[in-house]
Amino acid sequence: MTIYSHSRLETFKSCPLKYKFNYIDKIEREEEGIEAFLGSRFHEVMEKIYKNLPFRKHSLDELLDFYKDDWNKNYHDKIIIADNERKAKDYKEIGKKFIEDYYQRYYPFNQGKVLGTERWVIINLDDKGEYKLRGIIDRLNQTKDGTYEIHDYKTSKSLPEQSRMDEDRQLALYQIGVQSMWNDVCNVELVWHYVAFDKEIRSKRTEEELDELKKDTIDLIKKIEATREFLPNESILCGWCYYKDICPLHKHEYMVGNLPVNKYLKDSGVKLVNEFAKLDDKKKSYKVKIKEIDEELEEIKEAVIQYAGNIGVEVVIGSDHKLKITSSEKINVPGKGTKERESLIELLSQLNRLEEVSVFDVAELKKAIKEEKWDSAILDEIKKFVEVETVKSVRLSKSKRED
Ligand code: SF4
Repeated sequence: MTIYSHSRLETFKSCPLKYKFNYIDKIEREEEGIEAFLGSRFHEVMEKIYKNLPFRKHSLDELLDFYKDDWNKNYHDKIIIADNERKAKDYKEIGKKFIEDYYQRYYPFNQGKVLGTERWVIINLDDKGEYKLRGIIDRLNQTKDGTYEIHDYKTSKSLPEQSRMDEDRQLALYQIGVQSMWNDVCNVELVWHYVAFDKEIRSKRTEEELDELKKDTIDLIKKIEATREFLPNESILCGWCYYKDICPLHKHEYMVGNLPVNKYLKDSGVKLVNEFAKLDDKKKSYKVKIKEIDEELEEIKEAVIQYAGNIGVEVVIGSDHKLKITSSEKINVPGKGTKERESLIELLSQLNRLEEVSVFDVAELKKAIKEEKWDSAILDEIKKFVEVETVKSVRLSKSKRED
């Protein structure tokens, strides 16, 4: 039985292929984003504060020295700084500010009793113990009135809204774990410290919400376990992904992206895409031209119809050509999905005329097969009559490299 974690589930949700690389193929990477590195250093400082709390309270200078040493000791050359405008020392300085703000806000750190720091928690999602998760709580506290607080430190540079945190999965899952640890856990509060903003966000969950969360999480695990094809999902998170060198969406960019211009332009793939883009531009310029010509033709058509009507003729001649004006009736039927369309279908059905005019909707059938809308037994029967082939297509879009 696989024991999941919040980050494992989130990885699947954000990109199934990254999930496969990380958790199934277990491909390890030495790279680490500077944001994650900073987060780890901040967590170390927090652990030092709260772990040693019953024995001693560290001064701010002691903590800043510890932070500096810990940063220098752990810094390595595989740390990635995605933001070109920032250097490692900028992040180090930001971290120092986080610690100073936190210290000033919470010293002497007596907002409750510390029950644990970096505490492991096991979360049973069902009674049979078939679906389990595990996680690490940054800090578990108990206040004077007996409330259990699950604390989490966030060093991210964006501050989520309350509504998002009220739906956050991670700490709510930890709450399920904490509730099973002791009999007196009645009141639980989830606390996030957004240290870049010197701000606390708090949230609570009802038993119904926790039950719903368990159900949703089991559904997600079932979905993961039923997945056979782990497809890449391009998103803003690709910027922090360490598998770009093997991801089919980024591998070519990874191979040639940092080459000098002369070598870059000689790459066969780059040459093909450049040629494609050039022709695509040409096609677009023709399309614009064709649209202009169509508009001009429409104007002339209107003028000729007017002219012919004025002099009572149906054929108007030019030097080498002539234009014949004909009239025909166009029938407009109410659009798909409209009420009028529904009424029309009902009427035809009542009149036993529907079969004569209804057509087999190929597009809908293809959609049903592609999205597996029906039972597999039905789909298997249908697939005996259709051919399912893999069609490759290309779509042109802008890439980052400008030279
Ligand atoms: S680079 Fe993006 S699409 Fe590729 S594996 Fe990573 S997250 Fe997924």
